[in-house]
Amino acid sequence: MKPEVHQALTKRAIAIYEKRQDRTISKNFSNRIVYGTKAEDNLTPSRLWNWHFFRQNNEILEKTRFLRMRPTSETIFNKHVKKLQSTSKESLVYYEYLGRIIHHIQDMNTPSHVIPIYHALKPKDLFETFMCDALNDTMFNPEIPQEQSCQKDTLYYNYKCVAQETLTLLENTHIITSVNGHEDSLPLTVLWQNHQACPDRKNPGFGHFTKDCKIFADKSDSSIIVDGMVHTVTLEEKHRINNMICGKAIRDTINIFEFVKL
Ligand SMILES: [Zn+2]
Repeated sequence: MKPEVHQALTKRAIAIYEKRQDRTISKNFSNRIVYGTKAEDNLTPSRLWNWHFFRQNNEILEKTRFLRMRPTSETIFNKHVKKLQSTSKESLVYYEYLGRIIHHIQDMNTPSHVIPIYHALKPKDLFETFMCDALNDTMFNPEIPQEQSCQKDTLYYNYKCVAQETLTLLENTHIITSVNGHEDSLPLTVLWQNHQACPDRKNPGFGHFTKDCKIFADKSDSSIIVDGMVHTVTLEEKHRINNMICGKAIRDTINIFEFVKL
């Protein structure tokens, strides 16, 4: 997830949380949370050494073989949790750690981070770019799920639960398409494939973007061809998928605010 998206979703989550609690969080504290969600992606040695993916399966290495980077975010997540727990709530730094923790909770809502699919400058994650561009679109309207979930005993269990729920959501969601004017649908595996469907040889336990992920580069209707049938995917449908994912990320962020009694 791009830094701009982390910040925008966090600001929305804070506004909803304040309304629900009927009180205002100090501006210094809320600004520091938003800063932390962005700072976690700053190019530092820690960022280079800790990738932000979920340990979806046991084939994922603890450390990459040559440069010994950590492919998943669990170690850095737990480091931030320790720092948060040993910092006073009166200190501004507490809110930066909270923002950094939320960064990872939000990453666990994005398909490429949980499936997981390696991405950086190449290959690019076109859906993450779509999410970022959508922030300025009138169709950006995240749906906050009503049901409460991932109210676990520890922040680490919340992190794992959020990722597992995203994987379930992706499995159960279909893209609504039209074929020759009739409504049809396609599973999301036409866009994102896990390590079992399409293994990444360089990164054990990782999957791949399919070529159809390019639909997120179009700011108009797109086509996906499956078994010789042309499926049209409307721009509205691409926004529906994005709004669903962003809505869940906002709810999961609010859950963390409740967990730490912000
Ligand atoms: Zn990240």
